[in-house]
Amino acid sequence: MSEQETGNPEKPSNKDFVQKNIEFLESRGFAGQLMIPTFKAALEVEPRLKAVLFDVYRTVPNQHVLAGASAPWEDPERGLYTILWNPEFFGANEEVLTKALPIELKGDPYIEKQCEMIGKDFHDTALSDIDQSILLHELGHIVYFLDNEDNFKEIEASRQRDLEGLPVVPGALIAELPDFKERYETNKDGVRDQLNEDYGVSSLEELYKVQMNAYHNMPSEMIPDEFAAKVFEHIREKRNEEQG
Ligand SMILES: [Zn+2]
Repeated sequence: MSEQETGNPEKPSNKDFVQKNIEFLESRGFAGQLMIPTFKAALEVEPRLKAVLFDVYRTVPNQHVLAGASAPWEDPERGLYTILWNPEFFGANEEVLTKALPIELKGDPYIEKQCEMIGKDFHDTALSDIDQSILLHELGHIVYFLDNEDNFKEIEASRQRDLEGLPVVPGALIAELPDFKERYETNKDGVRDQLNEDYGVSSLEELYKVQMNAYHNMPSEMIPDEFAAKVFEHIREKRNEEQG
């Protein structure tokens, strides 16, 4: 069947969703409004991002996931590049979002990396800064997808291989594995002893850190961070120019 007969929509990359996204962000309270300049800065760095459409991440109970990025080939029916985002993840109001980061996050390698990317010291970084860096990270996933439209099968397979190589398989986030906590705590089939020995940890919390570190160091996770860093650099440069 030809494209005309199936009524295929135009290629997603030809779409321009900027206005829709800005309206979406405007409608998501303080958290969303804060993202508008960040999103615009990302567009200045990568104009192809006008093809992305924002949507609310519908969280599953007990899953601590803030955001995600999805490619047209993952959901052919929808056929869009989509940023899924949970605007209420950290709390949507100004009071919560402008607060400094909770001290227990100090020393978390990923958070430290995010602070560096934003160009701020840990103590000067607010939840809203991390919120922004996460959104930029997801946009970075989309840029990587756009760069690899023609070989998406290869990038998907390589990500899958990386995920399978994580300390705790198959989930990237231990929180996403509903039965893992119980298996670990009850040492089912010696799983706790084995993982503790393999990764030199002595608690689920430590194992979680090892897992998240490995996850964030996967190439498919580092590339989006590089994009986020580029946008933060662009924001800093613009600010410096404005201040003359
Ligand atoms: Zn990611």
